[in-house]
Amino acid sequence: MAWRCTGMSNIELVDNLKSSHIIKSPLVYQVMKKIDRNDFCPRYAYEDAPQSISYGATISAPHMHAYALEHLEKYLQPNMKALDVGSGSGYLTACMAEMVGSGGKVVGIEHIKELVDLSDRNMKKHHEDWIETGQVEFVVGDGRLGHPSEAPYDCIHVGAAAETKPTDLIAQLKAPGRLFTPVGTSQQSIMIYDKKEDGTVEERKIMGVMYVPLTDAEKQRGRDHSY
Ligand code: SAH
Repeated sequence: MAWRCTGMSNIELVDNLKSSHIIKSPLVYQVMKKIDRNDFCPRYAYEDAPQSISYGATISAPHMHAYALEHLEKYLQPNMKALDVGSGSGYLTACMAEMVGSGGKVVGIEHIKELVDLSDRNMKKHHEDWIETGQVEFVVGDGRLGHPSEAPYDCIHVGAAAETKPTDLIAQLKAPGRLFTPVGTSQQSIMIYDKKEDGTVEERKIMGVMYVPLTDAEKQRGRDHSY
């Protein structure tokens, strides 16, 4: 069950996600075993809960990272291109980069410069080569607008809640392509937007969630009391 997958090590955490049927895909299982959450999480790395990374941001809970990768797997095949909006700690960006491989690319966009620097340092603990070759690129910017200079993307993941349907991001999807994002304010749901080959978009609700909002950098800094 979600929230009950805490382990004493990365492998134990990921094994618990698997035995709870949150991780179903053998590939997602391998990837989450390989990317050590401890490289990206300042404390209690193997608890199945979000943790503060300062500046009003959190690294999402492991079960949410697992759900995201499960839903995006088909769009994170070798050589594909992905965008991670609100990349924060850089953990999910790393998992996505492992999946698209050296012929692919993942851009992490984050509006707090200090968090971009943090994700860069986190990534370099074991994957400095990904930054050097451009398999991973972290940029500072307002992710609500996506990152048009690298568009279109096979998939886009959003790690913070959009108030309404994120049309700018949907426009930057390939056809076919998939967007995984929390949407809503006091009540939020994970929404999947699938752009079909003919350009039409289908949407479906996956589950209720509680994420930090996609917002203005100054508003977010004002909300934070941890520094
Ligand atoms: N997925 C990441 C972070 C989740 S927290 C992880 O698991 O580590 C959500 C992140 O979205 C925060 O880092 C926050 O700073 C960022 N964010 C919020 N609004 C944003 C915006 N408008 N543009 C870019 N990033 C934003």
